[in-house]
Amino acid sequence: FAINMEQLKLEQELGRGNYGTVKKVLHKPTNVEMAMKEIRLELDSAKLNGILMELDILHRAISPHIVEFYGAFFVESCVYYCMEYMDGGSLASLCCDPPGANVLVGSGRFAPPPGEREGSEEQLEEMAKPRVTEPLLARFAASMARGLKFLKDELGVMHRDVKPTNVLVSTKGFIKLCDFGVSGQLEKSIARTNVGCQSYMAPERIKGSSPTPNDDAFMSYSVSADIWSLGLSIVEVARGRYPYPPETYENVFAQLSAIVDGEAPGLPDDEEDMPVVNGAAKSDDEDNDDEDDFKDAEEEVTSESGETAETPKQNEAPAWGSEVTRKWSPEARDWVNKCLIKNASERASYAELLDHPWLKADADREVDTASWVKRAMAWRDTHHRGSSWGGE
Ligand code: ADP
Repeated sequence: FAINMEQLKLEQELGRGNYGTVKKVLHKPTNVEMAMKEIRLELDSAKLNGILMELDILHRAISPHIVEFYGAFFVESCVYYCMEYMDGGSLASLCCDPPGANVLVGSGRFAPPPGEREGSEEQLEEMAKPRVTEPLLARFAASMARGLKFLKDELGVMHRDVKPTNVLVSTKGFIKLCDFGVSGQLEKSIARTNVGCQSYMAPERIKGSSPTPNDDAFMSYSVSADIWSLGLSIVEVARGRYPYPPETYENVFAQLSAIVDGEAPGLPDDEEDMPVVNGAAKSDDEDNDDEDDFKDAEEEVTSESGETAETPKQNEAPAWGSEVTRKWSPEARDWVNKCLIKNASERASYAELLDHPWLKADADREVDTASWVKRAMAWRDTHHRGSSWGGE
C-alpha cells in the first residue's frame, strides 16, 4: 500500500539530522507508529519520481538488522520517508558524547552533580551511566555486521553512512541499521550543509574523493569502506566518544589527515579509558587491584559505584563509573583491528568478521540488550536534556 500525508497523524519530533527532521507519526489506517523523515530537496518532479522509484528497493530490505521501510512520498519539494519507529533512538544517543561535547566529558561517563553524590547503593547504581559491557559490544558488532552483509548479499548495495547515529535500538532489544544509500539520485540531490565534524569515511574514500562530495568520484569505492566505518563505530561505542582526538572535531582537514596518515584507532587500553579532566587523563592514584576491575559482567556497576561512594573526594575528578578500568578481550581487539586496516584490500570481509571467534561467542550467548536499552534511555533522558541527544 502507498502511504500519504493525509493518513498520518504527526506526533513529536524525534531528532534533527544533517538534512532534515525526523518525526514520530501514527499511520491511522493501520494504527502503526512510524518515524517519518523529511528531506528537503530542490528538484523537479521528474527527478523526485526517479528517487521514489529508486527507494522502492527498500521494500525488499526485510531483515531483523535493518529498520523496516514503510514507504515514501513527496509533497512540494520534500521527500517524506516512513520507517519503523525505534523507541530507543540511536546507539550514539545511548552511549556516546553528543556532537560538540567538550573534552571534560571525556570517557562519556558523566559525574552526577555534586549535590547528588550521596545515596544508597541502588540510587548510586541508578545514577551511574550504564556501561557497554563486552557482551553488549559484541552484540552491537554482530547485528551491524549482519545487517551490512544482508544489504550487500540480498540487495547488492553498500550502506555508505555507517556510524553510531545510524544504528537504532528498541526496548525490545533490537539493533538495526538505518539511512543507507540506496538512491544515488537522492544522495546527489541532498545539500549537505555539514559534511560532518566526525568523519567515519575510510581512508581510501577520503583520498579518492574530490572537494565536491556530489560528483561521481565520491561514489567509487567498495564495500570494504563500510567495514572501516563499522570498526570505527564499534570503537566509538566502546569509548563513549569519537576515537580521533578532540582537537580534530572542529578542524575537518586535521581530522581527515589523521584518518589518512595517522595510526588507525583501536579499543582503548586500560589506562586510556580513564576520565579526562581539564584535558588530561587522570591517573589512577589509588592502587587498585587490577584483576578485580577487569570483570565484564553486566551487574558490575553496583559494586564499583559503591566503592567510589566510600571515598568521596572534594573538588576532584568525577570518579563515577570512570575509575572502572576494564580490559577488552584480545578477541574484541583483534576484531576491530581487522576492520580498521588502512589498506582496503587487506581489511576483513563480512564472512570473516562473522566467523571470527568474537562473534562466534556472541552467537552462543544470551545478551539482555533490552534491559540495557531501558537503563541507558533513562540515563540519557536525565543527563542529555537540551543537548542534541535531548530527552523527549
Ligand atoms: P543523521 O542525519 O544524523 O543520520 P537522522 O536525520 O537520520 O540523523 O535522524 C536524526 C535523529 O532522529 C536520530 O539520531 C534518531 O535519534 C532519530 N531517529 C531517526 N530515525 C528514527 C526511527 N526510525 N525511530 C526513532 N528515532 C529515529
